[in-house]
Amino acid sequence: MPKTNDQRPATRIGYGFDSHEFRLAIPLKIGGITLPHDKGLGGHSDGDVLLHAITDALLGAIAAPDIGALFPPSDPRWKGADSVIFLQEGLKRVRDSGYSIANIDASLILAAPKIGPHSAAIRARVAELLGVHGDCVGLKAKTPEGLNLENAAIAHVVVLLEKTSRPKKTAPRKKASKKR
Ligand code: MG
Repeated sequence: MPKTNDQRPATRIGYGFDSHEFRLAIPLKIGGITLPHDKGLGGHSDGDVLLHAITDALLGAIAAPDIGALFPPSDPRWKGADSVIFLQEGLKRVRDSGYSIANIDASLILAAPKIGPHSAAIRARVAELLGVHGDCVGLKAKTPEGLNLENAAIAHVVVLLEKTSRPKKTAPRKKASKKR
């Protein structure tokens, strides 16, 4: 048995929320795929409300800085950025912390378009991006009944992480070549 004094919890939970406003004549990206619709979600990046909420859930689970701190809207590098970049950074930080994703569950709230016909494709893409089985990505879509939010899309996400290994050391790498 390897010696261990690893006191980190076996599981960790993360929660993410995001909202974006619909704008005419821009692509609608949700969960890393483009949906056919006459409006898209505005934002500094590509406005992918679901990937943003998943990213914040991953970062929150390991108590890392949130998506706005890591990718500030004031930074021109992220103008029009593919939100997959943000998700991959969250995933990298989770893995570097010695955790993997057990499952995620998401709720999308939007008046239109209907998500049902695209649900399987969104779940498959999110599972692919996260490196988990499709059965580990839950997705429900709701309309904003009584909320008077017809022009917004909202995402809520929870993620469960499982400890897999010791955290990766973050110290700078030693030079590969040694003096002899
Ligand atoms: Mg956002």
